[in-house]
Amino acid sequence: MKVNCPQCQKQIEWDSNNPHRPFCSKRCQLIDLGEWAAETHAIPVKDPQNDIFIDPENIEEMLSQMPDGFFNED
Ligand SMILES: [Zn+2]
Repeated sequence: MKVNCPQCQKQIEWDSNNPHRPFCSKRCQLIDLGEWAAETHAIPVKDPQNDIFIDPENIEEMLSQMPDGFFNED
């Protein structure tokens, strides 16, 4: 089964082992997430345990520090 990456439109094979699906890569996933954050006017996401603020300008750097599989919700 082939799908188009929602970000760059590249056609990729759907692979349930791909942690970035439906995106082709982590980069496209992060770009999409960054745009989503920007569209929501960067409303701070507040975690009652740890104050976490998502800054779209630094989202890639921030997310790169998160553990692998952070976005896996299987
Ligand atoms: Zn892509």
